[in-house]
Amino acid sequence: MAPPRTSRGKGPKQKHDSGRTLKRKRGEDEITTLAQKVEELDLKTALKNFSDLPLSDPTARGLTASHFKTLTDIQSRAISHALKGRDILGAAKTGSGKTLAFLVPVLENLYRRQWTEYDGLGALILAPTRELAIQIFEVLRKVGRYHAFSAGLVIGGKSLREEQERLGRMNILVCTPGRMLQHLDQTAMLETNNLQLLVMDEADRILDMGFQKTVDAIVDHLPKERQTMLFSATQTKKVGDLARLSLQDPEYVAVHETAAAATPSTLQQHYTITPLATKLDVLWSFIRSNLKSKTVVFLSSGKQVRFVYESFRHLQPGIPLMHLHGKQKQGGRLDITTKFSQSQHAVLFATDVAARGLDFPAVDWVIQVDCPEDSDTYIHRVGRTARYERVGRAVLFLDPSEEKGMLKRLEQKKVPIEKINIKAAKQQSIKNQLQNMCFKDPELKYLGQKAFISYVKSIYVQKDKEIFNLKELKLEDYAASLGLPGAPRIKFIKGDDTKERKNASWKMAHLTDSEAESGEEGAAKKDKKDEKEVRTRYDRMFERRNQDVLAGHYSKLINDDGTMIDSGAKTAAGEDADEDADFLSVKRVFAIGDENLGKADSSDSEASSDGEKDTKVVQLDGKNELIIDSKRREKLLKSKKKLLKFKGKGTRLVYDDEGNAHEVYEMEDEEGFKARGDADTQRERFLAEETERTRRADLEDKEVAREKRREKKEKRKARERALAAGEAEDDEEGGVPHGLPFVPFEIPGSDSGSEAEEKEEASRPSKKQRVTFAEPNSDSEEDPRQKRTKGKKTAAQPQIETLADLEELASGLLG
Ligand code: ADP
Ligand code: MG
Repeated sequence: MAPPRTSRGKGPKQKHDSGRTLKRKRGEDEITTLAQKVEELDLKTALKNFSDLPLSDPTARGLTASHFKTLTDIQSRAISHALKGRDILGAAKTGSGKTLAFLVPVLENLYRRQWTEYDGLGALILAPTRELAIQIFEVLRKVGRYHAFSAGLVIGGKSLREEQERLGRMNILVCTPGRMLQHLDQTAMLETNNLQLLVMDEADRILDMGFQKTVDAIVDHLPKERQTMLFSATQTKKVGDLARLSLQDPEYVAVHETAAAATPSTLQQHYTITPLATKLDVLWSFIRSNLKSKTVVFLSSGKQVRFVYESFRHLQPGIPLMHLHGKQKQGGRLDITTKFSQSQHAVLFATDVAARGLDFPAVDWVIQVDCPEDSDTYIHRVGRTARYERVGRAVLFLDPSEEKGMLKRLEQKKVPIEKINIKAAKQQSIKNQLQNMCFKDPELKYLGQKAFISYVKSIYVQKDKEIFNLKELKLEDYAASLGLPGAPRIKFIKGDDTKERKNASWKMAHLTDSEAESGEEGAAKKDKKDEKEVRTRYDRMFERRNQDVLAGHYSKLINDDGTMIDSGAKTAAGEDADEDADFLSVKRVFAIGDENLGKADSSDSEASSDGEKDTKVVQLDGKNELIIDSKRREKLLKSKKKLLKFKGKGTRLVYDDEGNAHEVYEMEDEEGFKARGDADTQRERFLAEETERTRRADLEDKEVAREKRREKKEKRKARERALAAGEAEDDEEGGVPHGLPFVPFEIPGSDSGSEAEEKEEASRPSKKQRVTFAEPNSDSEEDPRQKRTKGKKTAAQPQIETLADLEELASGLLG
């Protein structure tokens, strides 16, 4: 039986009615009963355990095997609605188990539709960061381990081609928006016509402006008739957003809406007033006095993270330090999240890439050294601790200028937070040590300068001016506290690098040029004034050219008067732009450019008047001539390529049918033109005609493309059905007819899966084998019997190498 919402999706598949066996019948009976139970499920009664829900056997077993028994609030409410096919807007505090609240319905709703690999993509799960996508995928692997669906992880970091090959057959995809869109646009094999469910975890983040275009484009690719589920701790209620996703009469499941606090009750929250210039001291002292804790430290930018991480590492606090930010290589990021998850005591310095959804086990402290941009970010950051009934503590460092504004915002969001004071006796200053280190190690100093600049810029672009006020910050002291010899001067230069900054805050990324220019006044002027006063021996020291590898770009960064010229406006706005940009920005001017030509010209006139004898004039083509007045120029004559520079541009001609040459644009005479009406109407007519023409052509193209796709798919399906039918018969004697094994993409560097899972992965048939259809079935560890029969069958099947072979076989089977 189809789930109640018959208008959406399709019912259970009508299989061929010949050759049905008892086994298959029993399967269908089971599904019918399951659907019946779902329909009868009473939404009013509060359920306690997963076993109270009408779940399929594979899901129930997966949950038990992963030790999930009792339902959390959000799970108990959201799952029942979702099983009935309703659209869901799920809001519940951090750490309250939202992941299962959408994964269970995804598995169940596909299962009840008897989804198989041939049905293509059934569910798409979007997450704002790669780490979160991986984490969701891991949970899916765990609870979905007894299902026959194929599932994939699409987060980039691998070649598109490699992913493309596998995507065609995936039933469930967990992905980040950018990469997904790329596939939707480029991967022909990926069929979304059939999609049943769309899930967005951390939906408000995905729907905010940074992802807006991408998400709109993704949704454009998906069928309108589908189930949509949005989950977050801070949920969007914007009607516009919901319309964008064409949500139909969504069920708003907000379990903690009436709660006294927006954060878990097991979380203790504090703030402390730390002037900007003492932040690092306080942080250092905190780390030193909590060596037996697991702590996440949030900073506002990747540069800050790197500087604090590198400098604290030098200082050897006596606890493992790690760092996580958006510009790290994917493999590295993964290693770090895994390592931090497994550590008992460690400190992780992170940007907001780690703020959303990540479920590090047993985090004791969340320290926010830099004030979060808004209260939602605050809630998500502190949500990294006190997860699922555990306790946790959070401390927010606030500059005196930020206190009033931020507290007001937190109060509005129902965040209970108390002030604490740091014991002066426990506080340790590391300013001198940092200064020493920066002095000795130019690279560290360079990082420090970058960190300073990115911090100032991050404050500058903050939207909430009630909290963030650049003028009130003591930047000179702050620079000194980083160990820097004076505050780098900051110029907000025009231009923004075009690199996509998916994880950077939208505000940071969209700093407009005009704002940037005027911003110069705030930061730069103040610093300039200060620079005049403060000149230390460090300044003089750095005016000397550094003798190490960094000397080159240092000299580019430092003006003659020892102040910084910042090449980083483009970088700081986007918090972590590539360092390379700095190295590459200064280009050498090619020796024989136009300017040399100019020089040559002028020297030519002098030369002629001086009667210099060496000068020659070479006719290059009709119009241009080249003056040869030096050896170097003489050499030029030998290189055709270099000479191109001095030749004028050719004119492009087009040829008509008779072979006569015409200019690309030929003017018609004015009378003829006027005869056809005045310019404006002509233009309008032309535009209208062209628009109409393009539109029609567009439609035709789309129609043709769709037709082709459909045809291809039909063919493929017919082929595959034929094969499946053949196999089903074999299966009947052999054992459980299971489709594909639960096939995930490998996760680079991840070793968090259980051993059994890994083995399963290792024994997964390779791509080539799968193309041969020789072994499309599960060779999972549990059923060696099945495996044996498969083995036999493989041997008996003819080896298929090419598509032609395959087609031959298929047509044979179709009879
Ligand atoms: P959220 O997405 O709401 O922040 P998660 O889904 O990441 O929360 O879950 C937080 C933690 O709670 C995870 O470690 C998860 O394993 C655990 N958890 C979730 N649901 C249950 C449950 N029903 N019983 C026990 N633990 C659960
Ligand atoms: Mg979550």
